[in-house]
Formats: sequence, C-alpha cells, structure tokens
Amino acid sequence: TISDDHLASARSAYEQMKSYFDSYSDSTQDTTSADISKPEDAVIPLTQEEIDTILDRLETPLYNATMAEEYSKEIINENMNLYKKVLSQPIIEPQFDDLIRPGHPLAGKANATILSLVQNQDISSIISTIEQLEDKFNNKFGYPYTFMNDAEFSDTFKKEILALLPKERIVHFVKIRPDDWNKPASIDNVKYIEAVDKLASEDVQYVKKVSYHNMCRFYSSKFYHQEALTYYKYAWRIEPDVNFYCNIDYDMFQFMEMHDKIYGFTLNLYDSPQSVRSLWNDTLEFVKENPQYLNRDGAYEWLKENVQNPENYNITGGYSTCHFWTNFEINNLDFLRSEPYEKYMDFLEKKGGFYYERWGDAPVRSLALGLFADKSKIHWFRDVAYHHFPYTNCPSSPPGSNRCDKKCIPGKFSPYDNLYVQNCMATWLKYGMTDEESKMY
Ligand code: GDP
Ligand code: MN
Repeated sequence: TISDDHLASARSAYEQMKSYFDSYSDSTQDTTSADISKPEDAVIPLTQEEIDTILDRLETPLYNATMAEEYSKEIINENMNLYKKVLSQPIIEPQFDDLIRPGHPLAGKANATILSLVQNQDISSIISTIEQLEDKFNNKFGYPYTFMNDAEFSDTFKKEILALLPKERIVHFVKIRPDDWNKPASIDNVKYIEAVDKLASEDVQYVKKVSYHNMCRFYSSKFYHQEALTYYKYAWRIEPDVNFYCNIDYDMFQFMEMHDKIYGFTLNLYDSPQSVRSLWNDTLEFVKENPQYLNRDGAYEWLKENVQNPENYNITGGYSTCHFWTNFEINNLDFLRSEPYEKYMDFLEKKGGFYYERWGDAPVRSLALGLFADKSKIHWFRDVAYHHFPYTNCPSSPPGSNRCDKKCIPGKFSPYDNLYVQNCMATWLKYGMTDEESKMY
C-alpha cells in the first residue's frame, strides 16, 4: 500500500516539473529552440485521403512479391550488416548540451519512477538488477521505485529492498487488485483450455501458465491504472536478473521530457507469430472503426516488414511481429492514458486474445506505438548497455573510455548465432528512425 506521504511527494514533483516546463516554454517561445516541442502541440486531423493512404499501407507488405522472392537474401544480409555497422560506432550519450547531469537542480526531479512487477521468491534476482541500476544510473539521481505484485509482498522482501537503498528514497509496494490481475469472468474456460492446448502443441512458450497471460494483460493496460502511478508521468520498467553494463551520466527521464519522447527502448525483436495469430487482424478492425487515431508519421514499414521472417508475416496475416522488448521500456504514461491507447485496450480486452491466444504486452504496446504515435517520439537508448537473456544491446565506446564494464561485446546481439534473425533493429534503423534521432549520438 502507498502512504499519503508518497502520493504527496509524487504530486509535488509533478507540480514542480509542470511549472518548470511551463515557464521554460514561455521564455523560449521566440527563440530558435524548436527542438523543445510540447506534448500539447496542435494535432492536425488526418484528411480522408491520408486515412485511405495509411489504411492501404496497412494492407500492403513492405516488400512486393518480386523483391521478396528475388532479394530476400540480400535484404537479410544488409540488415545484419547495418546492425553491426551502427553498433560498432563509438558513442557515449546523446549529443545535446541540455543533458541534465547529477547535481543539476533538475537531476532526479522528473516525475518518474522505476517500476517492477515481481514475486517474493525473486528477491535475489531483483536485487541483482537494482544493484546494477543504482550503480550505473540511479544512485546519482535517486528516482523512486514502485514494486507491484499480485500477492502481498512479504516483510522480508520489503526489508531487503529498503536495506539496499538510501533511507530517504521513496519506495512503493503495491498489491494489485485481483480484478486487474486475474483472468476475467468474461473468458470462456472451455474455449481457453482448448486454445491453450493447441498453442502448447505449437510450442508457444509459457502458454499453459495462466499467470503469464495475466502478466501480459497487466503490463498491456492494467499497470498504469494502479493508484501508485497516478501522479507519475514516466515509468522505467525493470525485471529480475537483467544487466546494465555502462554508466549513464545524464538524467534519462529529463532527456525524454525535454526532447518530447513518449517511449524509450533498447531492443527490438520479432515475436512468436502463433502467440499473436489474430492480433493484427483484430487491430485492423479497430483502426478501421477509429481511423482518426492513426498517426500521420506512424512506423508503418516496421509493422509491415515481410522478408526477414516471412512466416511471421504470413501466420499473423500481415504483421512483421516486430516489437520493442518491453522488459526494458520507459513509458510516458500520458500516451498510455490517451484515448487511442485506452480505447484500443478496451477493444483488445473484448477480443479475449490475452487468454485465447497469448498476446504479449510487447506486441500490443508496439502496435499501439507504431499506429498511434509519431515515430520521431520513440527513442532508441542505444547508449544503454542492457541484457535480458538471450539478447543484448551493447554499444561501442570511444578508445580510452571507461564508461562500460566491458562485460558485453559491442554489436553482439546474442550468444546464439541462429537468433540474429530475430533482431528487428535494422528495420527500425532503416524505416522507423528519423534523421534527427540518428544524429543524436
Ligand atoms: P519473460 O521475460 O517473458 O521470460 O517473462 P518473466 O518471467 O521475466 O516475467 C515478466 C515480468 O513479470 C517479470 O518482471 C516477472 O517478475 C513478472 N512476473 C511474471 N509472472 C508473475 C507473477 O505471476 N506474479 C508477479 N508478481 N510477477 C510476475
Ligand atoms: Mn523476463
């Protein structure tokens, strides 16, 4: 449960930030500081013609049949090489002089929390993650933590977490309401069991664990409705047993705030197509009913890539299955609270695919971002060296730099060569990333 103190302190951080940015935008209105755009930017509604063009793109594979047949080897090779080339460029951090350093009055003052859904039994694994994140980033910024659990956190769990952190640090321990976690009564159990057996026979991972379905539904929509997150604008998700290998010497949340980013990621993959067999077609039904939610600058090519894993595209009826790997993600929760996202979640909930299939929160979030967000507001934290088995985002450092531990090999995406084809980063680099984004480092 959350104390009033915690809510009050989150609320006051929120007010402070808001007034800072309001005054900032007033004072810079007449300058050339066009890169500080505000979330309230007027949105010009799509014309019917634009809508038709986008709907048409959503029905069309990125590569036509001739390209797909004749050049698939070349395209895949080019993708592998592009990824290696980009990751081999030595980088440190985004090249802006407005980065908020430790000690700056705004350092640690974004309206943000680090978030983890975790079980009592995973205490030592989450401690390992926290120790690394504190060491590399958060001991300089002091952002609060929010832990969520479908069961009550044990006293041991809470004590061990608090013992890791400075006394003044805000930590929320949240018990999730059963309705936000458990399989809803609207799910037909007979249909659920049949569906799960079928998917298990197709080797869909975790499909027999109802808790995994619960988790995916929770991280798609229910998590940001929890009271503890009400006053936060950003949440950085972490998991047990992940690794951070390089120091981060600027406030990443303030970076997102100042550069108007709604989503930050490190890894970008293909998914198991059987787990989302009807998600694309259901999603198309939703956007046809609500075309005004589409974004003029959506990441449509990335959603429609059909050559690197053509099976995925075919099985899902037209979705590459490319998705941001959500075990690391920084969400601007205002995007999730927005009408397009909320309505999309209501629609998906009614379809039941979190249970009748095994829709992951990662493809769900990624489809919403790809369709409803301006792709220039999605940021690849290429400087964050991050590992969740079996994938790594490992940047290269300039000679002599000691920013990184050297515990990962730059550009080495996975220890398993056969998994390289699961990397969708090259498609993002080619089609999702704007010029402004690619010049940031
Ligand atoms: P994977 O990364 O897809 O293999 O899935 P994980 O097992 O890592 O689960 C994703 C996240 O959800 C992690 O942060 C887990 O700690 C959390 N999680 C998964 N299942 C449960 C559960 O039943 N209860 C709670 N409280 N957390 C869970
Ligand atoms: Mn995991």
